[in-house]
Amino acid sequence: MTQPIYLVGARGCGKTTVGVALAQALGCNFVDTDHYLLTTTKMSVADIVAQEGWDGFRRRESGALQSVTAPGTVIATGGGMVLAESNRQFMREHGVVIYLRAPAQILASRLEAFPEEGQRPTLTGRPITDEIVEVLAAREALYNQAAHHVVDATRSPEEIVAAVLAALHTAHA
Ligand code: ADP
Ligand code: MG
Repeated sequence: MTQPIYLVGARGCGKTTVGVALAQALGCNFVDTDHYLLTTTKMSVADIVAQEGWDGFRRRESGALQSVTAPGTVIATGGGMVLAESNRQFMREHGVVIYLRAPAQILASRLEAFPEEGQRPTLTGRPITDEIVEVLAAREALYNQAAHHVVDATRSPEEIVAAVLAALHTAHA
């Protein structure tokens, strides 16, 4: 597998967790666009949004997507990467796009159990569960549009990795 693999999906769907395990299984590199932004800008997502607004963050996110794209790489993308049509098109043209799909209730319970450090500000300022339901409803169609394969991400990380590998095999059989 030399084409980059892009993992898309909402925050908490397991892009980082599954991406690390998938890269290991494939003997690939792993990169995370949020982490790339953090190390290259030395700012958290919250800092970038505070200083440059969401538009500024989205511009930097698109730049990060292009910078990390390389053969033999598993790429975990930020939850909002699919918002820009140009990002969806870029990913579909440059690699294989996998949507890790999980319902809002599961995303919420994962994020509540393990609140991330430097969590990005909520878009609405309302409780996280309400926001997840709304954001997922708004983005679900975009995740589906971007994806070559949709994988059920409610299972264990090992099962999800196996399902992604099976999907990749199908496509390249
Ligand atoms: P993302 O990168 O998509 O935001 P993460 O990989 O950071 O998601 O996972 C979010 C949280 O959910 C972490 O605490 C992680 O340990 C947990 N998690 C991820 N995948 C699973 C899974 N398949 N089953 C249970 N918990 C998971
Ligand atoms: Mg992540």
